[in-house]
Amino acid sequence: MGIFDTHAGLAARYQAARAAGRMPTGVVMERLLSASEAIIDGRRVVTAGTHNYLGLAFDEACIEAAVAAVRREGTGTCGSRIANGSFSDHVALERELAAFHGMRHAMIFSTGYQANLGVISTLVGAGDFLLLDADSHASIYDACKQTQAGAIRFKHNDPDSLDARLRRLAGEPGFKLVVVEGIYSMLGDIAPLKAIVEVCRKHGAYLLVDEAHSMGVLGARGCGLAEREGVLDQVDFVVGTFSKSLGAVGGYCVSNHEQFEILRLACRPYMFTASLPPATVASTRAALAAVQARPELREKLWSNIHRFHDALSAAGFQLGAAPSPIVAVRLESEAATLSMWRALLDAGYYVNIGLPPATPSGESLLRCAISAGHSPAQIDGLSARLISLAQAHGVLPNARPRVALGLA
Ligand code: PMP
Repeated sequence: MGIFDTHAGLAARYQAARAAGRMPTGVVMERLLSASEAIIDGRRVVTAGTHNYLGLAFDEACIEAAVAAVRREGTGTCGSRIANGSFSDHVALERELAAFHGMRHAMIFSTGYQANLGVISTLVGAGDFLLLDADSHASIYDACKQTQAGAIRFKHNDPDSLDARLRRLAGEPGFKLVVVEGIYSMLGDIAPLKAIVEVCRKHGAYLLVDEAHSMGVLGARGCGLAEREGVLDQVDFVVGTFSKSLGAVGGYCVSNHEQFEILRLACRPYMFTASLPPATVASTRAALAAVQARPELREKLWSNIHRFHDALSAAGFQLGAAPSPIVAVRLESEAATLSMWRALLDAGYYVNIGLPPATPSGESLLRCAISAGHSPAQIDGLSARLISLAQAHGVLPNARPRVALGLA
């Protein structure tokens, strides 16, 4: 008996999969070459797993801003926001994020995970209720464990299911906080936000939207789903991350609620961890400026998304959803998914993988993340390789002939 015995089942499953070949958890990016290429195992590979949706992780202005900041202010703040770790750039970034979303208040966190964990668990407590979509990200589920509020799941992307749950809580005096995502991270599907807003208003529930994957991607100004749906003024809290469209690391929450600033004195994942380093804050400010000044990045991203989604749909793949930067190829067998993932890597394409229990409904997924940083040739190369591998694995029974797809 030992302290790791509780993980014996997981270890056995991993060893069995490892025996069949390389595993995603073992992949090392030996060198990054650009927003869309890296060296893995000494070979050049197209990266289609990173959430660097606008390619800004390699943007010259963002890099220069980070380099200047590290020279000016050092490598780290060595303190939390409540003790020597608030620099003027942190405050400036908060001001810019609030203005970007048209909200009065903004708080930044060291990761998006901590933003969800901190904001959700601080807003609701004993006697309150947290209503979360069944496909919510781990950071939202983990927030439930940090609060004594009752956690209730509703069916994924189903406003009627949310309505039914809230109706049952009608007599309860506690606050109700509904949490949804703009674009869901596993399948890439988009929340029916207008209908969700209506249900929340009907029941007097607060609404938090996690725009981790939709900020920079959706909306005329790139604010996310709430902007696209014209409901930004009806959302109580927007959470976002710097680790996707903004190409860095960190998270934030914006709100119009007057008392929002009290979270700075109550939210433990904000208070008791070091603040973001100067280089990260500087590159994020430059990236946020680029999201606003360069809409062509978003146009290029969407052109790549449609190109890829169209090719895979025409080939007969079962995809996760309507087009979004996360294109999830749904496969029935875990073994075929791992085998295709390995073959793709051997062929020079890195994508992500989603396996049960981390996936909705226990499906296995090849999760491709599309970026404005991809060239059309890289997108076509990836789709062609996916199609030929799926045919070789017998997982694409309805495929049209390759010649018809122009991929031969
Ligand atoms: N929310 C969602 C929906 C996410 O997918 C993620 C990360 N994948 C996060 C929050 C956490 O973001 P971060 O990487 O900044 O911790």
